[in-house]
Amino acid sequence: MLSLEEARAAILERLRPCSGIEEVPLRQALGRFVAAELKARVDNPAFTNSAMDGYALAAADLADGHSVLPLEGESRCGDAPGAMARGTTMRIFTGAPLPEGADTVVMQEDVRVEGGRVVFPAGVRQGRNLRRRAEDFRVGDSLCARGRRLAVYDLALLSSSGIDRIPVYRRARALVVATGDELVAPGMPLGPGQIYESNRLATLLQLEALGVEVVDGGTVRDDAAALRALLGNCTGYDFVITSGGASVGDHDLVRQVFAEIGEIDLWRVRIKPGKPLAFGRLGEQGHFFALPGNPVSSLVTFKLFVEPAVLAWNHAQSDNLPGFGAVAGNDLRRQPGRTEFVRAKLHIDVAGRIVATALPGQGSHQIGTLRDTNGLIRLADDSPGFAAGDAVTVIPLSLDRL
Ligand code: AMP
Ligand code: MG
Repeated sequence: MLSLEEARAAILERLRPCSGIEEVPLRQALGRFVAAELKARVDNPAFTNSAMDGYALAAADLADGHSVLPLEGESRCGDAPGAMARGTTMRIFTGAPLPEGADTVVMQEDVRVEGGRVVFPAGVRQGRNLRRRAEDFRVGDSLCARGRRLAVYDLALLSSSGIDRIPVYRRARALVVATGDELVAPGMPLGPGQIYESNRLATLLQLEALGVEVVDGGTVRDDAAALRALLGNCTGYDFVITSGGASVGDHDLVRQVFAEIGEIDLWRVRIKPGKPLAFGRLGEQGHFFALPGNPVSSLVTFKLFVEPAVLAWNHAQSDNLPGFGAVAGNDLRRQPGRTEFVRAKLHIDVAGRIVATALPGQGSHQIGTLRDTNGLIRLADDSPGFAAGDAVTVIPLSLDRL
């Protein structure tokens, strides 16, 4: 059985990243993955300008005890002011170009204007209140690396550099299918032995949150012919993701059908929850994940394997699981052997430390535990658990609930 790291590495190695690129306007680029490094088209600031509403001057003109200069002219935003005459001062506004001949701005609150003259305070320092050309970035500087998933801040930056269209990878297309004779859609009455389906919804939504175009393939019965009929004809997808039927039970046919129609690259990973998991390739460009049916296993394996695969498909950085240090809030003993992800409640204590408390109800069917879960404590294969106060590694799930 592969370790978590081996399985993740194997998936990334076998993955066939996207080669299709399209260009989108800034307004439609949020959440898309950049397909080529983006460089600044202008200097920022594009010209030296004033950081304040005030008066521009050459600081040397205030030397020798001079504190009064005649006021001549004005520089407003959008102006191209001419040169400033030696020994004068010019009215200037925030963001307006500094006139040639000036090297300093004094804010208006610090001066007195008397008739056509401006009285400056003592101690005016040369170079104050200026935003200098290119102090932020220069033409040609890299603004955004290939593979970056565009956030609002990135787009504001690109816009400020005059970039209007962005090359991005085409969206991945995914088909999501739940398998199981017992599954019923919410809203329908439950018969004996039946349960409400939840994995397909979670998988569809998690994919959408990663920018994937999804197709809801519905629920299929535990029937080889039905599975073959659906999965055998699913061309044109970059990812086909199923839940359930990936284990070793008599009715766990998903892996068998994937083996017929594709190439299985790995099966079973030494993790808890989520051991039965298959990944492989379909046709020219497709990949499949057969995720376990237990709801918590399905969520955890999505985070551990599907998410990095989707990121890698988009040429984004994906080889490290995000994790940080925390302090255990309680004790947990366990049998070493697998890498385990323990559902936990993270909070910040009075000392500002992140405390991770393992929640009761860690069975992989116990989705109710998610009510309080906002992170996972990661236990290494050989870890016997932890005691309150121990250092642990956590993977955040929803930091807004910290
Ligand atoms: P399986 O992986 O098919 O053996 O399923 C393992 C457990 O997860 C069983 O208790 C199933 O009833 C349950 N399960 C399977 N698929 C789903 C699903 N889509 N939603 C909720 N529970 C499921
Ligand atoms: Mg099943």
